[in-house]
Amino acid sequence: MPNLVSHLRIGVLTYPIYVFLYNSIFAFLKKSVSLSGFDLALGYLAYILGSDLPDLDSANAPLRNLTKVFLYGFSIFVFYEFLLEKFRSLNVLSNLPDAMLSSAALGLSLAIGAGLVNMFLSLPLFYHRGFVHSITFGAIYGFLVYLFLQPLVKNVIFIGVSAFFGVFVHLLSDYAKKPWKAFKLW
Ligand SMILES: [Zn+2]
Repeated sequence: MPNLVSHLRIGVLTYPIYVFLYNSIFAFLKKSVSLSGFDLALGYLAYILGSDLPDLDSANAPLRNLTKVFLYGFSIFVFYEFLLEKFRSLNVLSNLPDAMLSSAALGLSLAIGAGLVNMFLSLPLFYHRGFVHSITFGAIYGFLVYLFLQPLVKNVIFIGVSAFFGVFVHLLSDYAKKPWKAFKLW
């Protein structure tokens, strides 16, 4: 079973090949796609995180912890602005400096993220090489990345597809001896 470093290395090495295939398929379909440096960099991050993400269910603690702290970033994105607005609207807190309120909202977002991620990981679904090692999980991850970035990025489909293929490359390298298992649905 490849470890974190090998998964990341495989991710770095296969990303240009994946981009080549992505561009080739669009060229074959006679659709033009122009990916900017920003699209490629963002796609790279989604792909690299995906190429490590399935090992969230690993018994290997450093690897699991690294992946978990990356995920807390999503929680900041989802909860921070909502919490900050709530804090500003509360009479008891309205006299406090804004720097304090934003730190409190940031801290609480991270705490909620940590709580949610750890709660999900304690579900029986996350036994090693279970659901997280499946293409359905890859598709859910890709779709979430798409939803989060849709308002912000023009070539958002590329970023979502990159996220999915990051997970898929992870599955292929885990199941190198039985490649058909990389296609398992759960
Ligand atoms: Zn794995």
